[in-house]
Amino acid sequence: MNPKEIEYYSKAGRIAKQVKEYAKSIIKKGTSLLEIAEKIESKIVELNGEIAFPVNLSIDDVAAHYTPSYDDKTTASGLLKVDIGVHVNGYISDTAFSVDLENNDENKKLILAAEQALEQAIKTIKKDIEIWKIGEVIQKTIIDEGFSPVINLSGHGLSEYNVHSGITIPNCNNNNSKVLETGAYAVEPFATTGQGMVYDGKPSGIYQFIEKKAIRDNLSRKIIEHVEKNYRTLPFCSRWIIKEFGTRALLSLNLLEKAGIVKQFSQLVEKSHKKVSQAELSVIITEKKVEVLD
Ligand code: MN
Ligand code: MN
Repeated sequence: MNPKEIEYYSKAGRIAKQVKEYAKSIIKKGTSLLEIAEKIESKIVELNGEIAFPVNLSIDDVAAHYTPSYDDKTTASGLLKVDIGVHVNGYISDTAFSVDLENNDENKKLILAAEQALEQAIKTIKKDIEIWKIGEVIQKTIIDEGFSPVINLSGHGLSEYNVHSGITIPNCNNNNSKVLETGAYAVEPFATTGQGMVYDGKPSGIYQFIEKKAIRDNLSRKIIEHVEKNYRTLPFCSRWIIKEFGTRALLSLNLLEKAGIVKQFSQLVEKSHKKVSQAELSVIITEKKVEVLD
């Protein structure tokens, strides 16, 4: 990583930290998720960052990938995961926290388990460490707290305009003895009272550009032009597209998805429909040290 890249990552991290504090201050039980998402996303821009992906606000057994639709009426409740992405020139800080909106002891313990697992993982992560060792620390910490890690969700490498660079930071010992190289990584333990696996649930309204292909529909072409210019290869959502093009864009998004020009992510739901907590931080690993971004 060159000094410019490090500077951009650090700036993204500083903004993400402020946005996280802001998010904590506005989230109350009963507030609309749509309002929370829009306020958080506006805050990122106000602080001179860019939005790396739609804010995820996932409740209870939905572990990740819930972002409000343009007309969403859902309100904040339960065990809420808030997952925020900030980028500066394509360099991303990916960060998340969980809140208990029910004053529920089990929720609080679940949240603490994910936070402690993250803390231990951050202490462990360094250049040249074998990847399985990070997963093992996360797994052990969560199991010691009496819960299960979600083993088919994981942290990931970060690269320019890319939320998932291809390297996986597991939430269990997956026997991967490859060593970590310098670079940026997101570490994100999930803890659950359930079996510790997620499945692909309902469509999330979160999309990503895949490849350019010819398409007849005029609005579809305009949407793709807009996506390439504003989001490039980063995730975006139907809510943002509707803001720009109106609700008729929903049909075009559907066409784009069918044509394989964009893909849509699914909500990730815990298999036994038990509650899930998450904690996440991004780090950069250089030759000399590990810097926590937010
Ligand atoms: Mn995240
Ligand atoms: Mn992540």
